[in-house]
Amino acid sequence: MKWLQGTGTSGGIAEGPVYVVRKKQYDIRCLPFTDPEEEGKRFEAARQLAMERLSGLYETAVSRAGEESAQVFEIHRMMLEDEEYLDCVREGLGQWNAEWAVDRAGKQFAEMFRQMEDDYMRARAADVEDITRQLLSFLVGREGEDTDVSELSSDGPVILAAEDLTPSETVRLDKSRILAFLTAKGSANSHTAILARSMGIPAVAALGPELLSVESGTPAVIDGGTGIVYLSPDEETQALFHGKIEKNRLYKERLEQLKGLPSVTRDGRKVAIFANIGGEDEAKLAMEQDAEGIGLFRTEFIYLDSSDYPDEETQFRIYKRVVECMQGRQVIFRTLDIGADKQADYFRLPAEENPAMGIRAIRLCLIRPELFRTQLRALYRASAFGPVGIMFPMIASEWELEEAVGYCETVQKELKEEGIPFSGDVELGVMIETPAAVMISRSLAKHVSFFSIGTNDLTQYTLAMDRQNPEFGRFFDPHHPAVLEMIRMTAENAHQEGIWCGICGELAGDTALTELFLEYGMDELSVGPSKVLELREKVRKI
Ligand code: PEP
Ligand code: MG
Repeated sequence: MKWLQGTGTSGGIAEGPVYVVRKKQYDIRCLPFTDPEEEGKRFEAARQLAMERLSGLYETAVSRAGEESAQVFEIHRMMLEDEEYLDCVREGLGQWNAEWAVDRAGKQFAEMFRQMEDDYMRARAADVEDITRQLLSFLVGREGEDTDVSELSSDGPVILAAEDLTPSETVRLDKSRILAFLTAKGSANSHTAILARSMGIPAVAALGPELLSVESGTPAVIDGGTGIVYLSPDEETQALFHGKIEKNRLYKERLEQLKGLPSVTRDGRKVAIFANIGGEDEAKLAMEQDAEGIGLFRTEFIYLDSSDYPDEETQFRIYKRVVECMQGRQVIFRTLDIGADKQADYFRLPAEENPAMGIRAIRLCLIRPELFRTQLRALYRASAFGPVGIMFPMIASEWELEEAVGYCETVQKELKEEGIPFSGDVELGVMIETPAAVMISRSLAKHVSFFSIGTNDLTQYTLAMDRQNPEFGRFFDPHHPAVLEMIRMTAENAHQEGIWCGICGELAGDTALTELFLEYGMDELSVGPSKVLELREKVRKI
């Protein structure tokens, strides 16, 4: 038995034979003294074919992985229309054959992305490489094939191993024939990882070049959570994984029985169990898991997944789809929480000494009201299609909340004047995630309908310990009495002012605390979709 350690990028356990696919090697030669006009025509023809292919891939991706994941092919199409990129290719076409010019421009652009500071932008190098290979495949007459995934063995599903997989390859794969993805390269930020997660296929990335020397057909078991891959597992390891798989299956079967049942304690105390999501695909997951609503939609992911500010219409369409997907269950949108660990280059935020304590979340929205207004308009417009809540992150002072509520009023007035429909029942809320907000929660409660406690940030600011730093060990105590007291106090103040209170930070899913949270009178707990039924089971036992 041999094992490899990589980075788990999409959770789950899989067992089966490994199938190694290799990239087709294109023999790209530099041919000077070619006819620039002729080469220009060849490039244009290849570009048109690639664009058509991308439209097809977009449709396939929408049906297999959802609209949001399919956006990657829109990004690829945009790259093929990008003037800067086209100029770079054209410059080469004046000197060499089209293949060489495309290959050279691709390398240059991929390198430029690789040098960027932002993780998200760095991961875009893989997208440039993807479109380059597609163009080359058309130029050399190989019709858009790159890695030969079409050669997949017909003997049943396999664990697919490759140096790296491009998003277009990933989405073209027949899901029923893939047990898991293994890649020598790649990162959790890559679109391939995002696609794997939304397709619900376990995946491990960054396994190193050794992966490629594995012989196809080698039996393996893989854990997409821990990132471990066992090759030719011995009986003991196999038994261990079989045990894990079986236990998991039985547990899931038991949880399935809880769908449609209320989240209520044995003595009749009800608590709403909502789901946290970061995109529209997860809304489907939340429905599948019978979440009673969405307690936190981290809307900044829409901004992070975009190369420029998403406009009102784009946002509206996403919010509307999520609201419709939830079929009458409330969706609570958290307004843009960009800054700190969530950065997008186009925001051009100045570097800060302490980004976690910097210009982020509501502070940024109040400094850039146009940004805020666009989002609020999109949110209010979506409210015409189902129950919506809006909450503001990182509130520290009452005036911030007053201003934020003021923008909501202005936006409603504008929409009314423009004759655009929206609901008059949008609930407004405050995320309680700074100690300051806890201390003034009685005053804050007078302006809104609910509180949602963001325990991730509340813990970091209460303990003065960076939530991203894995080195804290026993210093970082999520059950710290100071944090628990903050939570208790917030719920008490909310109830004294007659508003409801929930928790949407990770602590909401900590079943060791569920009973205590119910004692505090918590009205709602919002957790990742996969935790909803587990939490319901816990509540029903109390
Ligand atoms: C929190 O801080 O607890 C929270 C839910 O928000 P985020 O994790 O997105 O900062
Ligand atoms: Mg937070």
